[in-house]
Amino acid sequence: MALSLKWSIKRITTKFEFKIARSAESYYDVVILELSDGINTGYGEAAPSKRYEKGPEAILALIEANKHQILSLSVEDYETRQAALENMFPQSYALQAALDTAFWDLHGRQVGKPLWELFKASQELVTSSYTIGISDLSVIPEKLKEATPYPLLKIKLGTDYDHDIMRAIRAETDKVLRVDVNEGWKTLDDAKRGTEWLVQENVEFLEQPMPADQLDDIAKLREFSPLPLVADENSVRPEDVPGLVGAYDGINIKLMKCGGLSNALKMVELSQKHQFDIMLGCMVETSIGISAMSQLGSFARWLDLDGNVLLADDPYKGVGNAAGEIILSNKSGLGVELR
Ligand SMILES: [Mg+2]
Repeated sequence: MALSLKWSIKRITTKFEFKIARSAESYYDVVILELSDGINTGYGEAAPSKRYEKGPEAILALIEANKHQILSLSVEDYETRQAALENMFPQSYALQAALDTAFWDLHGRQVGKPLWELFKASQELVTSSYTIGISDLSVIPEKLKEATPYPLLKIKLGTDYDHDIMRAIRAETDKVLRVDVNEGWKTLDDAKRGTEWLVQENVEFLEQPMPADQLDDIAKLREFSPLPLVADENSVRPEDVPGLVGAYDGINIKLMKCGGLSNALKMVELSQKHQFDIMLGCMVETSIGISAMSQLGSFARWLDLDGNVLLADDPYKGVGNAAGEIILSNKSGLGVELR
């Protein structure tokens, strides 16, 4: 049966303003896709990152202009489909991700299997972290209260008041912390000082300590650092992975950066080949994006799939999250439905 595609922009609101080293937002506009074969519907989501590409309106224009080619793509042959998507939309990884996800979801529903099973993954997942974005120091106790059920916290640093943030957090909790600097330390000396300091603070790893274009400095930092270094802004697409050997211990894979599940799967394989630890991350996303990435969850040493639980108004229901334990269902495809 012929395929049809519906698309819309949905505004999602975070419980708290979500602030990192380079931006601050309290709502996000995401593009939701529904790909139907007349019986089954596959869902996809584009949550474009401002660091990498234009916003949702630009994505809608791209869909409108390419609708017929999109509907002629293969549901089963994901490698050919992904190559075609990259040709069609070289300027939007988030749109590639939304379409690839919708096609995978539709495929899973057609064959009656959950995607984790099709990916030869399992339902055994490590605990996911919960992100504490940058904020005024006065808001930190309230945020930590919201995070009470979650045993693992990911802290955003890279400000000129990192020490104050950490003091405010450590005044409230002794939980294990993961630290994401989001390229915030600009010199090797700053990064070494920051690392020496965080070693004392029960931190598990450092994510993207320095700007992505300072890979040589990051490799020097790695020789110095007792904490594992995890790439994020440096590990965008599959082709980035081999070049990170020596500079990082782990790779953070995100659907909205890499262009979807097909490429995420490729990055998992490349990370295993080059002996990187795998982290699966996300943007602020609904349960569509989070349920999609969770299908690959059992391949990861670290999970940071909390984008949906940071929302005040997730329109969708998918994987469960019980205090950081992500629960994958046996439902077909992504196992996602409208709330
Ligand atoms: Mg990051």
